[in-house]
Parts: sequence; structure tokens; C-alpha cells
Amino acid sequence: MKTSVLLLGLLLSGYAQGDSVVYICDSGHAKRYHLRDDCRGLHNCTHHIVKISLGEAKRGGRTLCGLEGK
Ligand SMILES: [Zn+2]
Repeated sequence: MKTSVLLLGLLLSGYAQGDSVVYICDSGHAKRYHLRDDCRGLHNCTHHIVKISLGEAKRGGRTLCGLEGK
């Protein structure tokens, strides 16, 4: 399972600080969220980059971008 990835995501997002803000590409089929709006993973986004809460991203079934925290 992806438990370690989930834990890493929680740590990176400052989960203990409450509902943090993440960035997503509003392409309709992107399934990742990003911690920074200048992430390399967002450079491929040809649609709008949208700021949403982490909780909202997770409710939408999004997972942390693989390029974060590297
Ligand atoms: Zn990213």
C-alpha cells in the first residue's frame, strides 16, 4: 500500500497546522496536488493553476505530486 507516501504527504503539508493550501492543475483529469505553485509538476499544466485546501484536494481523490519533497 501507499502508507509511507501518505505519511510523507501529511508531514510535508503541515497537517498539524490545520487546513493548508495546495495547488492543482485544473485540467479536469489531473490527479495530483502540489505544495508549491512553482513545482515542476505544474509546468506541464496548460490549464489554470488553482489554489485549494488540502482537505478539498484529498476529498477529490488527489494524491501528492511525486516531485514534491525532492
Ligand atoms: Zn508538484
